[in-house]
Amino acid sequence: MQEGTQGIVSMVEAQVERVFSPYALARFTQILTGAHHLRLVCHARPDGDAVGSMLGLGLVLQSLGYDVRCTAPNGIPKAFAWLEGGTLVDVFEEDAEAVNASSAACDALICLDFNDIRRVDPPLAELLADFPCPRIMLDHHVGPSDDFDLYFSYPLASSASEVVYELVMRQWGQEAITPAVAQALYMGIMTDTGSFSYACHSRRPYTAAGHLLERGADVAAIRSHVYGSYSEGRMRLYGCALHERMVLVAGGQAAIIDLPRKLLQHFDFQPGDTEGLVNEPLCIDGLNVSVLLTERNAKSVRVSLRSRNGIVVNGLAQRYFNGGGHPQAAGGLLHMPLGEAIVHTRRILSAFVAGKLNV
Ligand code: 5GP
Ligand code: MN
Repeated sequence: MQEGTQGIVSMVEAQVERVFSPYALARFTQILTGAHHLRLVCHARPDGDAVGSMLGLGLVLQSLGYDVRCTAPNGIPKAFAWLEGGTLVDVFEEDAEAVNASSAACDALICLDFNDIRRVDPPLAELLADFPCPRIMLDHHVGPSDDFDLYFSYPLASSASEVVYELVMRQWGQEAITPAVAQALYMGIMTDTGSFSYACHSRRPYTAAGHLLERGADVAAIRSHVYGSYSEGRMRLYGCALHERMVLVAGGQAAIIDLPRKLLQHFDFQPGDTEGLVNEPLCIDGLNVSVLLTERNAKSVRVSLRSRNGIVVNGLAQRYFNGGGHPQAAGGLLHMPLGEAIVHTRRILSAFVAGKLNV
């Protein structure tokens, strides 16, 4: 093993011991003792890790006898909605009342795959902030906010699903990992690491995945659901986006893909259909930064950023795109029309690649 690799492996080991300290585990036990109604929640526009970590932990807690409700701020994309545990989920966008009504009786709120209440978007964010019970966070983003009462904040983990795996193993042991739990957690780790290509800093995510396989995760079936169940529209949208909407900027070192609403409608866009698209330009030789701009409405544009070769974009997302995220996978929201967002992004990327921005 190389010296640099050894360094990060030691950092992972030190971090995991801090995250799951005897104090944190004892506090977790204390909160759950005597609790009955638990509400889990994941971030807005849930991805595979948000869904996998929430349902994985939800199913474990349900089989331990808790009354579990899960909360998805928006509908769960088809690629992830096949997991067991779907009946536990309230989609806030479609049934806010179910979440509202459960607030008073809730004994603990468990937040997965985000570390700042604002990541669930208003009005759910305000509602969660007022839940009269302890708030537990399990996450892998850097810099958690002070919204929570107990933190399992593990930025060197590959995914929130890996954080859940570690917690479940320490708290209840492998018997708690049923095949349905294994499916959910494997899916979360697989999707957040681009099939084990990035955010894997030590053997831990691979070991977790291997163990989940032994506990019943059907890897071929998971892959088929996630990467082999696209609609024709999604496939054609991909083709069109790469052929007609991608422009290279900053001398070919960065790419911008913009997706106007009309185009999305043309291809019968469904939530989740653009998942992964932002990664594609990074296959181009010499291109290290990719940005996807998706028009939400006449005044706002969602931004996805990806990078490679050690280039860090979460500072850029925070400073120039009202967002944040991981070093090489970040996002945000621009409050401007799409045309202005393209000009803004082009300007920022050119300056960033030229090393003129201090982020
Ligand atoms: P995606 O591009 O897949 O939407 O998001 C990639 C990552 O960027 C997410 O895992 C999350 O960490 C971060 N991210 C996306 N949108 C936002 C945002 O609006 N605010 C913040 N703070 N982070 C975001
Ligand atoms: Mn995640």
